[in-house]
Amino acid sequence: MRAASDAAAETPVRAPVQYLAGGTTLVDLMKLDVMRPAQLVDITRLQAPGLHSIEAGRDGLRIGALATMRQVADHPAVRRDYPVLSDAMWLAASPQIRNMARTGGNVLQRTRCAYFRDISWPCNKREPGSGCSALEGQNRWHAVLGTSESCIASYPGDWATALVALDATVHTLAPRGARSLPFARLHRLPGQTPHIETVLAPGELITGFSVPAAPFMRRSLYLKVRDRESYEFALASAAVALDLDGETVRQVRIGLGGPVAVPWRAREAEAALAGRPLTEANALAAARAAFAGARPREHNAFRIPLGEQTLVRALMQAKTMEVAS
Ligand SMILES: Cc1cc2nc3c(=O)[nH]c(=O)nc-3n(C[C@H](O)[C@H](O)[C@H](O)COP(=O)(O)OP(=O)(O)OC[C@H]3O[C@@H](n4cnc5c(N)ncnc54)[C@H](O)[C@@H]3O)c2cc1C
Ligand code: SF4
Repeated sequence: MRAASDAAAETPVRAPVQYLAGGTTLVDLMKLDVMRPAQLVDITRLQAPGLHSIEAGRDGLRIGALATMRQVADHPAVRRDYPVLSDAMWLAASPQIRNMARTGGNVLQRTRCAYFRDISWPCNKREPGSGCSALEGQNRWHAVLGTSESCIASYPGDWATALVALDATVHTLAPRGARSLPFARLHRLPGQTPHIETVLAPGELITGFSVPAAPFMRRSLYLKVRDRESYEFALASAAVALDLDGETVRQVRIGLGGPVAVPWRAREAEAALAGRPLTEANALAAARAAFAGARPREHNAFRIPLGEQTLVRALMQAKTMEVAS
C-alpha cells in the first residue's frame, strides 16, 4: 500500500486500482477475499481544494469526498438547512465507523448480501456468470425494487437515499478530466451485469457532492426502520423533503432505502402527491405507487408493506416537523 501524492489527485491512477478512504468496507471485503485489488491508493491525505470540507452557501451545499460521515452528521448548517442529510448519517453505522468513513466511500459501499460476502457461494456480482444463490436461498435482506434475474442484492447505504431524493450532483476526476453527473445516475441497476455497480470509469475518483438550495430542504427528514435501534442496516427507509402551501404539497422529493437495488428515487410517489393535500390516505396512495413495481421473493415480501408504511410515516412526520426559520 502506498500513500497517494497530491499529484495523484490530478492524474488518477488507471485500473486496476482501488482507492482506500476509511477502509470500513474495503478492508473488510479484502479480509474475506471478496475484493482483491492489485493496487491500493490511500487517498486520505490528499489535499486538493474542497476534498475534506463542507461548505454551505446561498446556492446550496458542497461536500468533499473525504469529509467524514461524522462531519456531515454534525455540521451545523447541514443539520439546520438539510436535516435529511444529517439524519441519514446519524442513523448509519456506529460512532467509530462514522469517525473513519468518508462520504465518497460511503456511497460506494458494497451490498451486505451474505452470499456475496462468502466466497464459497456462487454469486454473479462477485464472479460474473456463476449464478445467484439468493434467488432460491435466504432472501429476507434482499431487494424488491430494481432487481433482475441475475441479482436481487439490496444497496445498503443510508446517505445515498437522501442524496438521490435531493437531486444531488456527484463530482469526479477521471483519467480524461473532471466531470459532474446527477447522483441518480451514479449507480447502475443490476440487469445482466450486476458486477458493474456504477458508471465510474476505472481509476475515476469521486471528489465531492453538491446539493442545490431549494424551498423544501429545511422540511426534510430521514426515517429508518431496522431490526434493532442502532448499528444496523435499514429494513426500510425513506428520505423526504417537502414544500407545503398550508396542507397542500407544492413540491416533494422522495428517496427510498432498504429493499432497493440502487438508491431509489420514488418519482411515482412524488407525482401522486404533487398539488394534493398531504393526508394519510394520499400518503398511502403515493406509497403504494412507489412499490407498485415491486418483485418480492420467498422471504422478503414483508418489506413491501413495511416500505409503504415507512414512507407514510416519514411524510406525516415531515408535515408536522418544526422548521428552523
Ligand atoms: C458493522 C458495520 C455497520 C454499518 N452500518 C451501516 C449503516 O447502518 N448504514 C450505512 O449507510 N452504512 C453502514 N455501514 C457501511 C459504512 O457506512 C461504510 O463502510 C463506509 O461509509 C464506507 O466508507 P469508507 O470511507 O470506509 O470506504 P472504503 O471502505 O475506504 O471504500 C469503499 C469503496 O469505495 C471506494 N472509494 C472510496 N472513496 C472513493 C473515492 N473518493 N472515489 C472513488 N472510489 C472511492 C473504495 O475503493 C472502495 O471500493 C456499516 C459498516 C459496518 C462495518
Ligand atoms: S443477490 Fe446478487 S450479490 Fe447476492 S448472491 Fe445473488 S448475485 Fe450475488
